[in-house]
Amino acid sequence: MNNSSVDASRFALVAHDARKDEIVEWVGLQQSRLSGVQIFSTGTTGSRIIKAFPELNVTCLKSGPLGGDQQIGAMICEEKLDALIFFVDPLSPMPHDVDVKALTRLATVYNLPMACSRSTADLIVNGLLDEDASTRA
Ligand code: PGA
Repeated sequence: MNNSSVDASRFALVAHDARKDEIVEWVGLQQSRLSGVQIFSTGTTGSRIIKAFPELNVTCLKSGPLGGDQQIGAMICEEKLDALIFFVDPLSPMPHDVDVKALTRLATVYNLPMACSRSTADLIVNGLLDEDASTRA
């Protein structure tokens, strides 16, 4: 496994409740690559990641339903993010479903890589890592 990290990148990581265990597991699998990444997370997701991986650089925003998703939206339009990983729960209706739509729209407007599943999240991390390595070569 390649142990290089995606240095100096800024990722937003968010997960709905039903997928929080999965995002923590995913961060664990990608931990070495995420070690140089500045991570921004909604409140509860970020707390879970910090608890499991205190050595990672994680900034907690407000909880998603209380405005954390909008904070991430603001970061997208200010072009302060390199990727958005949002593990969405596709099986439960939620009062803040519209936040996912808003973030998807902004990510599209700003051509920001966005993943809602593990496989796509892996592709983004690997793609940014390769890009990073090729610009250094
Ligand atoms: P949370 O927010 O990490 O604070 O739970 C995620 C969300 O549901 O948008």
